[in-house]
Amino acid sequence: MAVRKIIQYPDPFLRTRCRDVSPSDPVLESVIRDLRDTLLSSPGVGLSAPQIGYPLRVILIDLSRAEGKMPILLINPIILAMDGPRVIREGCLSIPQYTANVERMEWVRVRGIDERGRDLELTATGLEAIAIQHEVDHLNGVLFIDRVSSLKRDLFRRKGYKGPMPALKK
Ligand SMILES: [Zn+2]
Repeated sequence: MAVRKIIQYPDPFLRTRCRDVSPSDPVLESVIRDLRDTLLSSPGVGLSAPQIGYPLRVILIDLSRAEGKMPILLINPIILAMDGPRVIREGCLSIPQYTANVERMEWVRVRGIDERGRDLELTATGLEAIAIQHEVDHLNGVLFIDRVSSLKRDLFRRKGYKGPMPALKK
């Protein structure tokens, strides 16, 4: 069990552009285990390797608590297509003080490698599709606040959050 500390905004590590990782790289075992353990102990539906300190292209989406779906682990994910723009209220485990209205796509088609090294291609919709877009953004150093059209109008203090609010800069 290795629950990692989730790196918090404005740590510059969150701006890292992550690199592809070979499915045979021995580091993957710890990356995957840490992603699972950390996400399980967090109130989120997705987590990316850079948020727990690995500059590698690995994401985990877990909607089993929210929607009863099987978790999706993707190594080197590439979004092949997406469509259906909509604005949704979104948050991030690395910026827990805020939620924001963000434009995302209703469905995505994504390709990657699963943890056994097999090619994996899937289509996701709804919350699952949005979580995939959010986590793939992390691999490129992009945060959800970068996708907010107006920090003044579209950003909100998370309900029930008490404590200092960091100033946000896109
Ligand atoms: Zn996030």
